[in-house]
Amino acid sequence: MPRSRADNPPFQRAGDLLAGRGVSVPSHQTRGSDNWAMPTYRDEAVVLRTHKLGEADRIVTMLSRRHGKIRAVAKGVRRTSSKFGARLEPFSQVDLQIASGRSLDTITQAMTMHAPFNPIGADYAFYTAGQVMVETADRLLPIEGEPALQQYLLLAGALKAMVNGTTDGKRPPSMIMDSYLLRAVATAGYAPVLDKCARCGTLGSHDRFSVSAGGVVCAACREVGAVRVSAAVLSHLTALLTGDWPATRAVTAATAQAASGVIAAFASWHIERTIRSLEMVDRSGSGFVEKFPLDGTSGQRSSQTGDPR
Ligand SMILES: [Zn+2]
Repeated sequence: MPRSRADNPPFQRAGDLLAGRGVSVPSHQTRGSDNWAMPTYRDEAVVLRTHKLGEADRIVTMLSRRHGKIRAVAKGVRRTSSKFGARLEPFSQVDLQIASGRSLDTITQAMTMHAPFNPIGADYAFYTAGQVMVETADRLLPIEGEPALQQYLLLAGALKAMVNGTTDGKRPPSMIMDSYLLRAVATAGYAPVLDKCARCGTLGSHDRFSVSAGGVVCAACREVGAVRVSAAVLSHLTALLTGDWPATRAVTAATAQAASGVIAAFASWHIERTIRSLEMVDRSGSGFVEKFPLDGTSGQRSSQTGDPR
């Protein structure tokens, strides 16, 4: 009796092929290779956040001078005997040596360059302003390993200015945070337009600010949601954006507060836009697989990729 063709199918199902990939490279070999081939690199970085890993380790997310946003494991840092646990707290600027791993890098050395303040003992105003700044940097730079030197210099400079003062002396943490937010969003490519209408380009000091237009708007372009900004608020925004600290000496609390409101709305809008654009990248890039696992529902996958949003 002839053998059925079905006993020896010429084509395996895609799922079998994918499952087979795991068999050809045993997982213990993959993990073992980290120990004998770990290239190291040095960089300096500001710690953005940390989270627990296992019993004693932490994953540290940082903004580095040369490698952009990076994540690395700090082993044993939650033990009291750890030599660099305290150096890897948020807001700290550290000089690092990192060993590249196959899945995650590992911090092998950390030297404090600048510790703006101890986050636990810090003044509440310093802590909240610092927290907004590191979160903004984190969210404006969604892609790891992409160099972002200007963002690094801005963040490190702003954290230093909170403690050491600006080029024109001390300023409240909230004012340094406001200046940082404007400049970080501007560096990301969305500088607010303050000297002409953001819609039609008509020159002049317009008295409405539209977050979606990206700056002040003239009477003709005024839209729903545009907020009134006084001449004093406008010049304070300009000073914060350009780092003109002498011009901020005599600002009133009311003006600073009104400017803060505009800056918060402007920065949030752009941060959300950055995240939305990342979601779009994810659909066609490497993050795609994690979001839509290869479980055979190909019809669903193609409909997701086809959605440009
Ligand atoms: Zn206009």
